[in-house]
Amino acid sequence: MRNEYDVIVIGGGIIGFSVAYYLCRANQSVLLIEKNFPGSGSTGRCITGIRAQFSTEASIRLAMESIELFKSMEDEFGFSVEWYPSGYLFLAYDEARKNSFLQNLAVQQHAGLDVRFMEKKDIQKLVPIMNCDSLLGGTFCPTDGQADPFRVLKGYHQGMKKLGGKILVHSEVIAIEIRGDGQKAVFTGTGETFVAPKIVNAAGPWAREVGNMVGNDLPVAPERHEALITEGVQPMYLPMLVDYRADGCYFIQRLSGQFIGCYTPQPPVPGKDLGTTFEFLTEMPRRMIRLVPVLENIAVIRQWAGSYSMTPDGNPIVDETDIPGVYVCVGMCGHGFMLGPALGKALAHFIVRDSWSLDMHEFKFGRSFDSKAESLK
Ligand SMILES: Cc1cc2nc3c(=O)[nH]c(=O)nc-3n(C[C@H](O)[C@H](O)[C@H](O)COP(=O)(O)OP(=O)(O)OC[C@H]3O[C@@H](n4cnc5c(N)ncnc54)[C@H](O)[C@@H]3O)c2cc1C
Repeated sequence: MRNEYDVIVIGGGIIGFSVAYYLCRANQSVLLIEKNFPGSGSTGRCITGIRAQFSTEASIRLAMESIELFKSMEDEFGFSVEWYPSGYLFLAYDEARKNSFLQNLAVQQHAGLDVRFMEKKDIQKLVPIMNCDSLLGGTFCPTDGQADPFRVLKGYHQGMKKLGGKILVHSEVIAIEIRGDGQKAVFTGTGETFVAPKIVNAAGPWAREVGNMVGNDLPVAPERHEALITEGVQPMYLPMLVDYRADGCYFIQRLSGQFIGCYTPQPPVPGKDLGTTFEFLTEMPRRMIRLVPVLENIAVIRQWAGSYSMTPDGNPIVDETDIPGVYVCVGMCGHGFMLGPALGKALAHFIVRDSWSLDMHEFKFGRSFDSKAESLK
């Protein structure tokens, strides 16, 4: 294996693979280094949701671009990634939440998103099996959807290889040296050294540690989120239900018929511990059944935990850092899978052409976190 490349990407999740794939498409020689196996970080643990219902125009447009990319993957990769536009339904149970949804709706519609506010009676028609008690209404976007993260990674993996990209797995980056000539030497735990003028930190929950290797102090920190999946049952044609109540949850039915879902723990659980809890195993089904009572008869078959890699304002950091040739695509919070294709494509364009193809000002490295925009919530 050669040891000099145009770009070295550190991390084999959706972000690393997406940026590496689009760099290969731009005729760059690329090495992706993954310490474990592709998808072993957060990507293989996500609940597969993809939406464009965000609150700022830049995020909405970015997510809309990602959805277009998910749609085109079957043609591009030659197999289905199980993209399916099942829609997302955001539920409002109090006036404050309803008003914030209505504010977001105006921005979303301005950006060209097909999204609407639905009264309770219309939601009941859309999802007849849903318990709409105390619901005020909600926003529904039929072009939001879902896809299979492992199939997406497989597509990028195969695509990279066809284009001459190299992928090194079970190899951890343990040190990076910035040399006087601008070259970056990347050292692995298996004793190899690779050199490139440009490197990308796409290390997900470990981004801070990789950043520290070059002196980047990145404001990203992992938080544990648990999830579960049920046995498969007949299709119920539910959109992703997003219940933001303090004891709410989010879940969707996969094409396999299985329900997959999670909730945001209160208080948050910082750190890298990925242990699972009995509390989640009992509480999550209770929350799901409250929304869709027929789920009472369905068995949970597995639970697991993964990390959200959080930033202070809930937005990713996607940029060149203050060290020329060192790029970051980190801090994906709960949205890295859905934003991954568009972020990877945009960052690859920036790395090659030194200009952005999309409005990325919200994701700048070194931005102030004084006002917490929380635009991606
Ligand atoms: C329960 C749960 C549900 C979620 N649901 C959704 C959802 O529905 N939709 C959505 O969009 N997002 C969702 N997310 C968030 C999403 O999973 C993440 O935002 C996304 O996967 C982040 O991708 P990534 O490539 O940045 O990180 P990762 O997938 O974690 O990839 C980083 C990779 O870097 C590797 N690595 C780290 N350090 C090194 C090193 N030193 N050397 C070599 N390799 C290294 C790791 O092994 C890892 O494979 C969910 C997350 C969780 C936990």
